[in-house]
Amino acid sequence: MLIISTSHDPIPLRESIVCGGEGVTLAAHVNPYESAVKQMTNAAKLMNLEAELLEVFSHPRRILTVHFPVKMDNGSIKVFTGFRSQHNHALGPCKGGIRYHPGVSVDEVKALSIWMTWKCSLVGVPFGGGKGGIIVNPKDLSQGELERMTRRFAYEIAPFVGPDTDIPAPDVYTNPQTMAWFYDTYSALVGSDQPAVITGKPLSLGGSEGRSDATARGLSIVVREAAKAKRMQLKGAKIAIQGYGNAGSFAAELLGAMGAKVIAVTDSLGGAISPSGKALDIKQLWKHKNETGGVSGAPGSRKISNKELLALDVDFLIPAALENQITRYNAKNVKATVIAEAANGPVTPEADRILNENEVFLCPDILANAGGVTVSYFEWVQNRYRYFWDQPTVNERLEKMMVRAFDTMHATAGKFSCDNRTAAYIVAMGRVAEATRARGIWP
Ligand code: GLU
Repeated sequence: MLIISTSHDPIPLRESIVCGGEGVTLAAHVNPYESAVKQMTNAAKLMNLEAELLEVFSHPRRILTVHFPVKMDNGSIKVFTGFRSQHNHALGPCKGGIRYHPGVSVDEVKALSIWMTWKCSLVGVPFGGGKGGIIVNPKDLSQGELERMTRRFAYEIAPFVGPDTDIPAPDVYTNPQTMAWFYDTYSALVGSDQPAVITGKPLSLGGSEGRSDATARGLSIVVREAAKAKRMQLKGAKIAIQGYGNAGSFAAELLGAMGAKVIAVTDSLGGAISPSGKALDIKQLWKHKNETGGVSGAPGSRKISNKELLALDVDFLIPAALENQITRYNAKNVKATVIAEAANGPVTPEADRILNENEVFLCPDILANAGGVTVSYFEWVQNRYRYFWDQPTVNERLEKMMVRAFDTMHATAGKFSCDNRTAAYIVAMGRVAEATRARGIWP
């Protein structure tokens, strides 16, 4: 089991929980890399992007695959497979998380690294896109096995990463402890202290104030701005969250504090809905999850499936789990006015089309979950200066960047009469295209 603690602990170590269930099974054939290419192609057409640049953007610059042995607790040796994809570095070093999940594949990390390029560009973070992962179910590993696997993976990809090359971070089922092992291993290998090689570290090791709930904080800013744009009241608005890991659980807390009513949540084991329509008790929910491993059966709630949650009549639907949750099979059932994608790639391109027809206001992942990488950037800056900011400074700077990105996307959607995702891509791809043209091709 990974360590789970509450947000009140000094180092929150919430694992990123993923959701299985109906959505995953129905959409298992949707290749996230193909989705990423489709999304880029939609934007390229509208913005008249050169075909050559679309071709460049459609492939990661390089992908490393590693197979490495790890000593297990019972004395046996197990070989794991991991990847690191570096999509584009026109705006700066590659940046993006490392996920531990049995479903990790080369096409998944390719897509995730592409999405990181556009996310960084959209919010104005001077990084390109990267992403890594290991094919593993971390719940099957002891803490010692996890540590040895992480350190060996760090060793294998060390020649490929670095503070000015590629900077990993947490993602699904990795947390500040994972980052600490990676940082320590990398520093030992190069023979000098290198905190800026990875972000999302514990505060005691050069992590940033505000990083643990940064994804959710960025998301709640986007939800607030979407409410303004749609002339909706956030106070009293009904919210459903799919996924109760780092992003989902902190989002429930922050949106609850902003006056919204989180009425339903699900995780990989099941879900909980408030029978009366009143807000769920977020503290009780987290306590129940810590005690039982899931939110299902939390006191004062009724059980709900993933499928039901996605079709709830709510103001805001927040998919905060994995890719391919809203697909052509269930998109027509969505009744939410706004979707804010806390997860990467939860809505497939075919589902996008259906949601657009039904006038659902979608805040795409590259905007809605960009708070995480934005505060990762702040952490990297602080590490380089070895001078740290207080939490209000972090939050204030995050607020500014998120609002600016939302406004730019919204204005671009108006200008091109297109959906928000395509607008976000037009802005993000336009900036990377400009940098690429300015650099030229050499050698
Ligand atoms: N894994 C997160 C994401 O998908 C954070 C990446 C980072 O902080 O570099 O955006």
